[in-house]
Amino acid sequence: MKFKKVTTGIAAVGIAFSLAACSGAGGRGSDTPASGSAAADANKGALVGVAMPTKTSSRWISDGDEVQKDLEAAGYKVDLEYANDSIPTQVQQVGNMITKGAKVLIIASVDGTALTDQLEAAAKKGVKVIAYDRLINGSPNVDYYTTFDNYKVGVQQATSLLTGLGLLDADGNKTDEKGPFNIELFAGSPDDNNATFFFNGAMATLKPYIDDKTLVVGSGQTAFNQVATLRWDPATAKARMQNLIAKSYSGGKKVDGVLSPYDGISIGIISALTGAGYDSKTGSGSKPLPIITGQDAELPSVKSIVAGAQYSTIYKDTRKLAVQAAKMADDILTGQQVETNDTKSYNNKVKVVPSYLFQSTIVTKDNYEDVLIKGGYYKQSQL
Ligand code: BGC
Repeated sequence: MKFKKVTTGIAAVGIAFSLAACSGAGGRGSDTPASGSAAADANKGALVGVAMPTKTSSRWISDGDEVQKDLEAAGYKVDLEYANDSIPTQVQQVGNMITKGAKVLIIASVDGTALTDQLEAAAKKGVKVIAYDRLINGSPNVDYYTTFDNYKVGVQQATSLLTGLGLLDADGNKTDEKGPFNIELFAGSPDDNNATFFFNGAMATLKPYIDDKTLVVGSGQTAFNQVATLRWDPATAKARMQNLIAKSYSGGKKVDGVLSPYDGISIGIISALTGAGYDSKTGSGSKPLPIITGQDAELPSVKSIVAGAQYSTIYKDTRKLAVQAAKMADDILTGQQVETNDTKSYNNKVKVVPSYLFQSTIVTKDNYEDVLIKGGYYKQSQL
């Protein structure tokens, strides 16, 4: 069984088709096991281990479900595990997958540097490793990576902050608005490689506005290690926002914008702000909610966007990511060339990992119907 190219769009999701229909997968990737049909026979119905970080965020539940569904449709057995955001749990789960005889591991890591020993054991047994969404760092034994263009996600988050504040128009052009606006910055988990990509993309976009004082970071906290949020935890973000409000926003000064890297964090931030008297709904009160960004288009945040609380999110069609990961596993197991489209962006400190990147989309109240409903990601009734 072979996976249809995901680049053809959503219609490809979950659809497997026969190998005969797809000779020459157009691969530009690196090494692959030799001899297609011999490998395909040997690996028919093989076990694939799928390690996901947590169930606290719905995106990872969908990711796990979709990867499992796509692999099973291609005839593989799947061991899907969630690590509850615990490093030792994930280390153990990956070790168990190798013991159980998994031939390919698809891993979205909790801590991108904690799996070196397990991956070495995997490599010794000829088990191939696909890093899923989050790069695994410091190990030579990461064969492929599929993710979104994470730097661009950060650029999009910052761009939507600028648009929400009225500094950019809908076409991305500068307006006559001069500010100044008070903003605060949040970043993701320091042990997740993506977090710095998001933050760097966002800061490159915001820097000119911070330099010319159109944007003022009220707390003065602009360094990644000052604004990072361990494990992307909403409660940690809420506590930090409460602290920032108390320390830097007394005497009528208000927060106008918050760069948030993830919807769960945005919810924590909104909760701190409404607790401090910011208007929870339309933002029309004396202290309107600031422009707040996000990521993942999770249902509670899309509802919040529709209700006028959160301003934006970044939509990443994780169905495509799941199809691509399953397709990579299938290509490895059937001895086909693995298709990649980026061989320079993701250096894991030991090597550049050949990657397949997808693009993301800014979602606001203005386009959520077109993107999320018409795109089939959610039904209107869910909102
Ligand atoms: C993912 C984001 C997600 C975050 C928190 C990151 O690695 O790329 O989509 O918001 O983890 O789960």
